[in-house]
Amino acid sequence: ELNNSWYFIDRDICRELLPQRSCFDHKGIMGHTLLIAGSYGKMGAAVLSARACLKSGTGLLTVQVPHDTCQVMHAAVPEAMVNIDRSDLMFTEFPELSTFSAVGVGPGIGVRSNAVKALDALLESIGDIPLVLDADAINIIAQNPYMKEKLPPDAILTPHPGEFKRLVGEWNNEFERLEKAKDFATQNKIILVLKGAYTTVVLPSGVCYFNSTGNAGMATAGSGDVLTGIILAMLGRKMDAWKAAVAGVYIHGLAGDIACSTEGEEALIASDIINSLGKAFI
Ligand code: AMP
Ligand code: MG
Repeated sequence: ELNNSWYFIDRDICRELLPQRSCFDHKGIMGHTLLIAGSYGKMGAAVLSARACLKSGTGLLTVQVPHDTCQVMHAAVPEAMVNIDRSDLMFTEFPELSTFSAVGVGPGIGVRSNAVKALDALLESIGDIPLVLDADAINIIAQNPYMKEKLPPDAILTPHPGEFKRLVGEWNNEFERLEKAKDFATQNKIILVLKGAYTTVVLPSGVCYFNSTGNAGMATAGSGDVLTGIILAMLGRKMDAWKAAVAGVYIHGLAGDIACSTEGEEALIASDIINSLGKAFI
């Protein structure tokens, strides 16, 4: 049965969802996240996601990148461990998953056949490890519809309008877009994050959450990659997937609003959103 309730994500809801740290916490229980991102020429996406994940409280982060790109990751994000794919240019294999508390995949991985095979294998082995898919991971699923059936329950997909169109086809108005999102989320038992102004989180039950934060300055390269890193960190801390999606979009938009207050909409870039995460979490 479709549940048609909807909510507006505000500060109070977000506060309730976010876990607090205790003084005895150590990095081993703050989550060890795995980010599979980047390829030769698209390392910016991986770097932005990785930095956002670390700035959102993950205990440990391992980034899986193609062989030739590992220096970029080491130099840009010294806090991250780097797992090196044997391939030179693109994502072709996934690492042993049992040590990770959550996995994020997609930014900058490309859609070539080796990436398709590796994503397929990842979905076969993911079991019940929390998963967020973005960008090219969504494009791969759109191009290979059989893979939808392999999505684990409560997987989070974060399409922007172009990616969502590839997934479900055209819509004529916003109501139709939301209906398509509800159908997709309920049929595949996954969580959809429809990005844009008032980003909408659609749960497998049909329940919708509309986000109150964010601004047009965030319409800039890499801002979606930042969201992937934030949600990954939250999943890694064992937040329920729907809570990670809802709190993640709120914090991401709030960081964007804080960055906008000093940078303005035109000058705002994705790194500014990351640099404002500290204030957004307070
Ligand atoms: P992407 O297209 O993958 O880089 O994602 C863009 C990110 O920026 C998403 O999280 C959007 O919600 C956010 N964003 C883009 N444009 C706006 C806007 N006009 N208002 C609020 N958020 C936006
Ligand atoms: Mg994106």
